[in-house]
Amino acid sequence: MEIKKTKYLIIGAGITGLTFADYIKQDYLIVEKENEVGGYCRTIRRGDFIWDYAGHFFHFKTDEFKNKFLNNVNNNEIIEQDKCTKIIYKNNLIDYPFQTNIHQLDKEEFIDCLYDLFNKKEKENYDNFLDMLYGKFGRSITEKFLRPYNEKLYATDLKLLDKDAMGRFFPYADKEQIINNMKVNKDTASYNNKFLYPRNGAGSFIKLIYDRLSKNHILLNTKIESIDFNKKKALTNTGIEIEYEYLINTIPLNHFLEFYTDKDITLLRKELSYNKVLVFNLGFNKKSKYKKEHWMYIPDKSINYYRIGFYDNILGSDKLSMYIEIGYSRDSKVNDIDFQLQETLKNLKLQGIIDDTFVLEEYSTILMDPAYVHINTNTDVKIKELMKKLNDEKVYSIGRYGAWTYCSMEDSMISAKSLAEKLSNEK
Ligand SMILES: Cc1cc2nc3c(=O)[nH]c(=O)nc-3n(C[C@H](O)[C@H](O)[C@H](O)COP(=O)(O)OP(=O)(O)OC[C@H]3O[C@@H](n4cnc5c(N)ncnc54)[C@H](O)[C@@H]3O)c2cc1C
Repeated sequence: MEIKKTKYLIIGAGITGLTFADYIKQDYLIVEKENEVGGYCRTIRRGDFIWDYAGHFFHFKTDEFKNKFLNNVNNNEIIEQDKCTKIIYKNNLIDYPFQTNIHQLDKEEFIDCLYDLFNKKEKENYDNFLDMLYGKFGRSITEKFLRPYNEKLYATDLKLLDKDAMGRFFPYADKEQIINNMKVNKDTASYNNKFLYPRNGAGSFIKLIYDRLSKNHILLNTKIESIDFNKKKALTNTGIEIEYEYLINTIPLNHFLEFYTDKDITLLRKELSYNKVLVFNLGFNKKSKYKKEHWMYIPDKSINYYRIGFYDNILGSDKLSMYIEIGYSRDSKVNDIDFQLQETLKNLKLQGIIDDTFVLEEYSTILMDPAYVHINTNTDVKIKELMKKLNDEKVYSIGRYGAWTYCSMEDSMISAKSLAEKLSNEK
């Protein structure tokens, strides 16, 4: 058996694992089960089309990571866009978010939303996500958009989600903001609404990080199969035994906890709830009638997808290039891919995005499992307690899936950087 020794064993070469390596700089070994790095931030090329694993756009909140990105690529490789996002509501397009654009609805529906908004029963504390939606936005806004859309996305009963399930990603708005938004021209009011995207897909940002790392310290096509936490040894499917001092996990927590046999940890693992997202990337022979929209939200439950995106409108290309997202519950078997593809094509026609003259030139299918973790206060407390115990044994589980949270690529990078700095100081 081959034996390797390293100070920092990093499981997973997604954006989190690579960023940790980038900052810790030495004495690390990354083990990645796929034959390339990037995890969910990989990019796929087919014919004339460049696709991500569902749209992966950069909304940097820190200058540090924004500059790391901008300073290392040519200006012409970066696209900066003012977000143009819509909701397909009863065959009309209205601006997203729904709650601040109810004035774009038909008069009767608008009055219903406004009436319920002014008569909603706000509470000090909400029991769950659904309770929060009704309490903060009233019945009509909740039932016309927030409830059906989020039920499609999360593929679960919204009563099972924490009131803060979406954290800072939820577009909260109070009455004043909603009324103010009716007075302002949306196009000129899009402050804080820009995003950056590399012309060659999100994977090209990953490549920037990967290029800085020593390739001798990355094992591709290698899966961690078991870990002896007492002896600090991990075994790979290729028969390598890796002795480590610190273990940095970035694979989804539900899988990582399978390496433990303790009863409590097994119970916690079974409690972790999440959805899966089936993604179709579709490349057609020509552009659709939608030439400026970047992505759209679909609350209608008779339509199989909850969100669709237009890479061609972001990249300025001349053929319709889309991503389609379909939510599944944790326990669903995703064994209806062909059916879902046909449904998708049928629904794109129904919604007027394509017609019979469109030819599907290329497509790819991806299953993101897990995709959105279901945040739940009780489970969160148990996860935090477990993390403390693991940290005492020099085991750290970080990133969106390792830490079991809802966050962006940049947030995952920030967590990796701060852990690397903390551990460097322990030397
Ligand atoms: C639908 C969707 C859309 C999103 N859009 C955006 C967006 O627009 N902007 C944004 O900022 N974020 C977005 N995100 C979030 C983003 O995908 C994550 O924050 C980020 O990819 C997390 O990276 P990671 O490295 O922590 O995990 P991952 O990318 O999951 O990396 C984990 C790695 O571990 C490897 N691995 C797994 N098991 C093993 C094993 N046993 N042994 C070895 N290796 C293993 C995997 O192959 C993978 O490479 C989106 C997420 C979803 C689901």
